[in-house]
Amino acid sequence: MHDVFISYSTTDKQVADAACATLEAHGVRCWIAPRDILGGDDFADAVVAAISHARVFVLIFSSHSNASDHVRREVQAAFHKGAVVVPLRIEDIEPSGALEYYLSGRHWLDAMTPPLEAQLQRLAEAGSVELVTPYQLAGLDGAAGRLDAVIVADLAGNTRRLDADCLLPFFGLATNLGPLADWGLAFDDNRVSIDPATCMSSRPGIFAIGDIATYPGKLKLILSGFAEAATAAHAIHPRVYPGTALHFEYSTTKGIPGG
Ligand SMILES: Cc1cc2nc3c(=O)[nH]c(=O)nc-3n(C[C@H](O)[C@H](O)[C@H](O)COP(=O)(O)OP(=O)(O)OC[C@H]3O[C@@H](n4cnc5c(N)ncnc54)[C@H](O)[C@@H]3O)c2cc1C
Repeated sequence: MHDVFISYSTTDKQVADAACATLEAHGVRCWIAPRDILGGDDFADAVVAAISHARVFVLIFSSHSNASDHVRREVQAAFHKGAVVVPLRIEDIEPSGALEYYLSGRHWLDAMTPPLEAQLQRLAEAGSVELVTPYQLAGLDGAAGRLDAVIVADLAGNTRRLDADCLLPFFGLATNLGPLADWGLAFDDNRVSIDPATCMSSRPGIFAIGDIATYPGKLKLILSGFAEAATAAHAIHPRVYPGTALHFEYSTTKGIPGG
């Protein structure tokens, strides 16, 4: 079961997916096509059923959705089912035609000014949902493999039982340079700029590899970090062992370790 139906033009899929992810990160269950259309289901039937079950109908509003026939039909259906319609405006235009009729007098959320994330959070508030923060997941309750509730605990250890059909766990990562910020290194978007040929930063002798390091075309992958480690090791070797040759070897030609 879901609380929110997300209506959008396929051209705005990226924003629709971001809205969906943000709402679901706040514990608001969303229905979004094509993700939630089960294989074999008729598209139109699935959409109508999903709109009927949604309490809130979020419309990603842009010139594309304004001109979209299927968005207009979805808004009509939401209107007739009595769902709360929340238009999220991502383009500075006014609704026209049938949408003008259905959306007049609605409370609009504008997401034209960044950060989009903050604007999307207001969606959670407008949808009359309860944000249960700051809480940690403390337990799961259910039987026979079915979830009935999640137990959350606040920082003082007080617990609450929240009825639930499913749990979508997400986690966040905060990137903070900490003391590195004062090392006089060149940074790009909070990461250390390096020369990919050596992995050396703008300060000679200081090298960076992995997610903290950046250069044009950088991919934040474990694989990239490993390759950068080899590149950096080769560049560092003459500094640590001046005058000593570094023999490039493959693990496959070196034989089995200890063998
Ligand atoms: C959700 C998610 C899924 C991913 N999936 C994949 C995947 O499938 N395949 C893939 O190749 N890559 C994947 N990645 C990317 C991959 O995890 C990273 O590229 C990789 O972990 C980077 O390694 P790292 O050692 O550079 O940095 P990290 O793994 O971030 O390690 C840095 C460490 O330094 C610690 N640290 C930070 N500040 C300090 C400090 N001041 N003092 C001491 N310690 C500190 C941090 O706590 C952390 O443990 C994924 C990343 C995410 C977020």
